[in-house]
Amino acid sequence: MVRLMAGVVAIGVAALLACGGAGSAASRADAAPGGTEPAATPGPGEEVDVNEKVVKSEEEWKRELSSQAFQVLRKKGTERAFTGRYWDHHEAGTYVCAACRLPLFRSEEKYDSGTGWPSFWRPIEPSHVGTEEDRSFFTTRTEVHCARCGGHLGHVFDDGPAPTGLRYCLNSVSLDFRRAE
Ligand code: FE
Repeated sequence: MVRLMAGVVAIGVAALLACGGAGSAASRADAAPGGTEPAATPGPGEEVDVNEKVVKSEEEWKRELSSQAFQVLRKKGTERAFTGRYWDHHEAGTYVCAACRLPLFRSEEKYDSGTGWPSFWRPIEPSHVGTEEDRSFFTTRTEVHCARCGGHLGHVFDDGPAPTGLRYCLNSVSLDFRRAE
């Protein structure tokens, strides 16, 4: 049992580094690419257009998001492994951005990576996620964010399963789930 626990902790520590680490000083607030006009945040079930960019001030995001969601989505923080809503979630449906509701990933492309974070091998549409080089924590990783609001989702690595070989390692708190009808 002790050995098992030690193994889990070791995996968690390794995955924490792999997936994100603590919040970085670099804020992505107001960094949604191409956005000019503020857009209302739609409710569940509403159509969301990736081309209608969402740009809000840090104060607006702080008001709208939970403190944990703000830390992750706007400050590039990382939730602790095995604590989020979706790392062990297996229902059929769509994962949308928790900040702007843009559909991002599907249950069909979700898999159990063993990291304690929800992991996918492909986004729902390539255009719905953006990437950026992340040089924090003395290493170079590829940060993944929502293409509509710029919200930080997690990181993408090249150790995922076929057919893409990619692992989108995400924070549950950056996502909301829509069950398939
Ligand atoms: Fe978004």
